[in-house]
Amino acid sequence: MDHVRPPREALAALRPYDAKHLEAEVMLASNENPLNLPGEMLDRLSALAAEIPYNRYPDPMATRLREDIAQANGLDVGNVLIGNGGDELIFDLVLAWGGPGRVVLDFPPTFVMYSIDAQATGSTLESMPRRADFSIDGDALLERLERGGVDLVFIANPNNPTGTLVPETLLIDVLNATDALVVVDEAYFEFSRHTMRPHMSRHRNLAILRTFSKAFSLAALRAGYLLAHEEVISELTKVRQPYSVNRFTQAAARLVFRERPVFEAAISQLLRNRDVLIHGLSEIPGVEVFPSEANFVLFRVEHASAVWRDLLKEHSVLVRDFSRTPGLEDCLRVSVGTEHEMGRFLQAMDEIMSRRRASAHFGVAAPAARHGKGE
Ligand SMILES: *Cc1c(COP(=O)(O)O)cnc(C)c1O
Repeated sequence: MDHVRPPREALAALRPYDAKHLEAEVMLASNENPLNLPGEMLDRLSALAAEIPYNRYPDPMATRLREDIAQANGLDVGNVLIGNGGDELIFDLVLAWGGPGRVVLDFPPTFVMYSIDAQATGSTLESMPRRADFSIDGDALLERLERGGVDLVFIANPNNPTGTLVPETLLIDVLNATDALVVVDEAYFEFSRHTMRPHMSRHRNLAILRTFSKAFSLAALRAGYLLAHEEVISELTKVRQPYSVNRFTQAAARLVFRERPVFEAAISQLLRNRDVLIHGLSEIPGVEVFPSEANFVLFRVEHASAVWRDLLKEHSVLVRDFSRTPGLEDCLRVSVGTEHEMGRFLQAMDEIMSRRRASAHFGVAAPAARHGKGE
């Protein structure tokens, strides 16, 4: 055949997720922990890798990892599901609770996988845009839920890429107002230290999503987990890929989870670096910084795409450009890195913005810089 028939019509409107996987000296685009695992853990991982029976399939349910996570959260193993990153669990949730004729609610600007997966599965996506300060319009949301017919709700808390926290009282009102499955995405829980976990016993429709990719330095291996009522977990097991979490990832996630107090010092340091970052950015004329409860900071700057390019091309600093996302015009998102990385980023921003001010002053377009290091 010299052609192939088109795929489902829904795909025509879809564009693939673009992770902007670019190389730079200072990587601040994906909200990862800037530090690799501690050396002692790397040694133990090498030992684990040497013991794996590579010819055998892994435990499809990652039972030992689930047991550890259940115990730490005061839950049963039946309340926990492991996925190939939180992303896979989001897809499973949409496969099971979304689909043709089913309504998925999200609150843009937010994590884009909710809408991509909703569209990919032919679900009806209803997006309720956030207010200018990125808060959710609680009245409009409760009104929508009371009209009924909503099947699945995604609330990132804190929200990515805005860093905004939803008031707990609103989340409780939402859980009371609907029997939709309400997914509170706590990918940044270790930084915000806010969780809906205490409300699980009263609300069967609450599911909490977490990940090993952010605070726990394990983005490379792809592991995330869902905490939910056992009925929810058992429905999800019908649609999930049985062997999606490989044996090495299961062992590594288990090691990291058991040793998680080791990460506390680094997390506290990152929170201090976030304060330095927010303060430093707010001192630069022409930059508007938004508050953040996570390990990243959103800011608005004129000609954001040009600033993004200057950061990368002249300073080898990679951040995320959201300036083409509705509601995030002229916004960039920078992840919190090490003290050194924050210094380099702030220095670079300072140089780029002073040059822009100088050229604006002389009434010419900003020229490409030829600044040397340390200038
Ligand atoms: C990073 C992130 C995830 C999941 O990431 P994985 O690497 O797939 O575990 C989920 N939700 C939000 C809001 C995120 O930012």
